[in-house]
Amino acid sequence: MTLLEVSALETCYGASQALFGVELAVGEGEVVALMGRNGMGKTTTIRSVCNLTPPRAGTIRFAGREITRLSPHRIARCGVGLVPEGRRCFANLTVEENMRAAARPGRWTLEAVHDLFPQLAERRRQYAGTLSGGEQQMLAIGRALTTNPRLLILDEATEGLAPLVRREIWAALRRLKELGQSILVVDKTLKELMPVADRCIILEKGRTVWQGRPADLGEDIQDRYLGV
Ligand code: ATP
Repeated sequence: MTLLEVSALETCYGASQALFGVELAVGEGEVVALMGRNGMGKTTTIRSVCNLTPPRAGTIRFAGREITRLSPHRIARCGVGLVPEGRRCFANLTVEENMRAAARPGRWTLEAVHDLFPQLAERRRQYAGTLSGGEQQMLAIGRALTTNPRLLILDEATEGLAPLVRREIWAALRRLKELGQSILVVDKTLKELMPVADRCIILEKGRTVWQGRPADLGEDIQDRYLGV
């Protein structure tokens, strides 16, 4: 079943158009990587899906239902869990309070998140603002998981983090994949995306220009669209 289906998506910032017809789909249990160079529209696509930046045209369907003009809050309630760029946590709440804030019943209890990221259990009573960047990212993922989303969306989940932390986050994403979690992940690190992604979608200047399996992402495509 197709969980998320985005078609002909167009989004503007004032007079400046950022998306010119993005097409993307994520199936149930699928991990899809949204790729492209800086400024090609990845974050705008994700923000449009969540209606944080309202699209000008196009349709967004989730689990068979059109969600295009629902409020971000209602979209989240439909089962879309966002880990935004810049891992925004509530700095003046504890780790545990951050996770409880939006929690909904399901497999992702606090204990299940602690099992995925044991550091969060150790730091449960600490204010989120005192965590390291890597721990804040784990918390941002943990918080999205405790909403028990049908689709987890991660925007640049490992950007700016130390190599060891990046490895931990990618290991957690592999584990989520094994558990059948549907994921849409924005990232630029091909090497780490390859073993996790079932499918890649490349954006160029606000348009979907390529989709396929990671194995089919040849050097020519990489040179052309990813500048590798
Ligand atoms: P990056 O990898 O650098 O995060 P991206 O692929 O996520 O890039 P977006 O951030 O979606 O790209 O940007 C797409 C286009 O929209 C760019 O031309 C960018 O300059 C523009 N843009 C993004 N945010 C805004 C904004 N708040 N106001 C105006 N223009 C914006």
